[in-house]
Amino acid sequence: MGEVQTVEVAVDVPLHGTFTYLAREALIPGQRVLVPFGRRKVCGIVANAIPREGVEADRLKEIEASLAGVPPLPPEFFSMVEFAARYYHYPFGQALFTALPTSLREARDVVLPDETLYALTDRGVSEPPPARQTARRALWQALCDGPMTIARIKSAMPRAGAVVADWLDRGLLKRETPPSVPFEVATVPVLNDEQAAALAALSSGEGFRAWVLQGITGSGKTEVYLRRIEAELAAGRQVLILVPEINLTPQLVSRFAERFPRTRMALLHSELSDGERLRAWVDAWQGRAGIVIGTRMSVFVPLPKLGLIIVDEEHDGSFKQQDGLRYHARDLAVWRARRDKVPVVLGSATPSLETVANIRAGRYERVSLTRRAHGKASLPVIHLLDVRHLKRVEGLAEPAIDALRRRIERREMSLVYINRRGFAPVVACTECGWISGCPGCSARLVVHLLERVLRCHHCGHEEPVPRACPSCGNIDIKPLGEGTQRLESALERMFPEARVLRIDRDTTARKHAWDAIYRQVHAGEVDILVGTQMLAKGHDFGALSLVVVLNADGGLYSADYRAGERLFSQLVQVAGRAGRADVPGEVLVQTQWAEHPLYQALRANDFDGFTETQLAEREAAGFPPSTFQAVLRADAPRLGDACRFLESVSADVAGRHPAVLFSGPAPALMMRLANRERAQLILEAQRRAELHACLDELSACAADLARRAPRALRWSLDIDPQEL
Ligand code: ADP
Ligand code: ZN
Ligand code: ZN
Repeated sequence: MGEVQTVEVAVDVPLHGTFTYLAREALIPGQRVLVPFGRRKVCGIVANAIPREGVEADRLKEIEASLAGVPPLPPEFFSMVEFAARYYHYPFGQALFTALPTSLREARDVVLPDETLYALTDRGVSEPPPARQTARRALWQALCDGPMTIARIKSAMPRAGAVVADWLDRGLLKRETPPSVPFEVATVPVLNDEQAAALAALSSGEGFRAWVLQGITGSGKTEVYLRRIEAELAAGRQVLILVPEINLTPQLVSRFAERFPRTRMALLHSELSDGERLRAWVDAWQGRAGIVIGTRMSVFVPLPKLGLIIVDEEHDGSFKQQDGLRYHARDLAVWRARRDKVPVVLGSATPSLETVANIRAGRYERVSLTRRAHGKASLPVIHLLDVRHLKRVEGLAEPAIDALRRRIERREMSLVYINRRGFAPVVACTECGWISGCPGCSARLVVHLLERVLRCHHCGHEEPVPRACPSCGNIDIKPLGEGTQRLESALERMFPEARVLRIDRDTTARKHAWDAIYRQVHAGEVDILVGTQMLAKGHDFGALSLVVVLNADGGLYSADYRAGERLFSQLVQVAGRAGRADVPGEVLVQTQWAEHPLYQALRANDFDGFTETQLAEREAAGFPPSTFQAVLRADAPRLGDACRFLESVSADVAGRHPAVLFSGPAPALMMRLANRERAQLILEAQRRAELHACLDELSACAADLARRAPRALRWSLDIDPQEL
């Protein structure tokens, strides 16, 4: 029996800390092992190996085996997971497993196909095996056409192993490392002055810099990324590009593939099979992939030669994970760039208010692109249609109908954009502008029509829905943000000659659905596109000349204080679909609130003005980014249990943290979900450190109290929540 060691092992369970096991062989931190846990056998990751010292060895369980297939995970991976687990107050083991691809979480060996390529040397090409050795001759012939993996060699010639070894020995064959540094660049457009200046800025300095590339839609941000990436690849470094799930389209990938045809790319997104994801993950981790493009989870992938991180559409909500380890990939990307001493570029037409606040505080540096890059393309003209004074048919105002008709006649494509995002409805008066606000805090009251109450989801205040406007007496007050259904069929009735294509979650759910959509759109087979916010993302639909926006008002006066920011960003994106090519674009926004500053800023293309007012509002109300927030959520079959639990946590902790404001408990916006009732406790502080000091105690207290609460109670903690 060899030396006995004790090792600390991280396991995917909701308990803090690691678990101690005995090991009979030397293990390295980062190694995957098979361990008994309770009655199961699970995959564990060795967190560290310490020599045995005064441990009651007979009480410890033994590691069953080490799991083969991949090298140990590197220390950088651990340090990032450790940071995330600490910052988001989540058990380390679970955080670690969240950051791993599925195949590496499973309690079995993994098998990676050997991707080494074998190629004939010059001598190999000029010295063919004699023709009578038919099998060897055939293999030689196949290799003349190009390098092959061992798997393909063996399918061409069974038992080729000995031949390969022999040829390698005699210098007829060589192993080719897949291209990672070698790259060649396709023809590229000449950068305009703004792009050149942006590129120069982003290339300046050494080590960590946090840049914000703020460029209007179509201003050529991607082109600037590509140039910046080119420089990293030329220096033999890797680039990590984080994109929203919905933006990881074949178009984006082929743009990269065309630009860097010999660079190995690792793609990481949710549509991959486990095997594909593992392959991509390992390629990135082993430094073989020069370019790594992925959605939020790729922020954790170990990258030995990392030179640059890009977060495209950094404002996008999909960078925040909404369950389990509730991390924000953009924020972790910035943390990682700082640790690895590399620059990070956050790109967007409409940076998030958090990012704007960081620019103002001097933590991030901004570089702007203010003009469209392509030929004559200019920004679209935005008109506000005041629907209070216009006749409507099926929700469409007459000027919008006329505009659509003109486009159909001119054979140009239009887009009708319906804002259906679940804005929590508030009650408003269209006469005097009164909005249902909470008397107890700065949040807005949300209408619950079934119960006929207005409710504050911040502090829990409740009151009946008023019959008339409390401010002017107008009886025509109603919830904002009702949905528009039937629009597709209405358009088809109105314009029987037009070809209408609907794009929403249903029509795009299937794999490759987007390919078909792009084909139809680019083949000119569509007159009117109808769709929801999916269309607001970075899709290039070519010659769109008109965009009609319906139902945007719900975002103006939502109970969610981020709704305005989201609405503005969506409208900028959707307006950006218009006029990308040589056809100038027009955008018609139907609204009851044409004078609202958000629409005025949109029309004037005044992002900075808009963020100015938003930041001021947030500051006045004490909302992020001027404060820091966390929310403790609980759910149980009965609301009372959830509320009581939150109350006890609050009662236990609040007194010791006067710098932290506790609001609630209050029912969640969606109080009932799947037969469970949900409540929340909101915490706010002026300084992050104050909040986190409180959260350390709070999460321990919650865990403790939950053990004594009714069994069915569940709780979670969300740091920097995106939705309340
Ligand atoms: P963004 O990422 O800001 O939306 P893109 O980089 O996709 O912008 O550029 C928009 C369009 O303009 C693309 O079709 C792109 O090929 C083109 N483009 C970008 N830069 C230039 C340039 N310097 N000259 C000509 N066309 C350009
Ligand atoms: Zn009124
Ligand atoms: Zn309130």
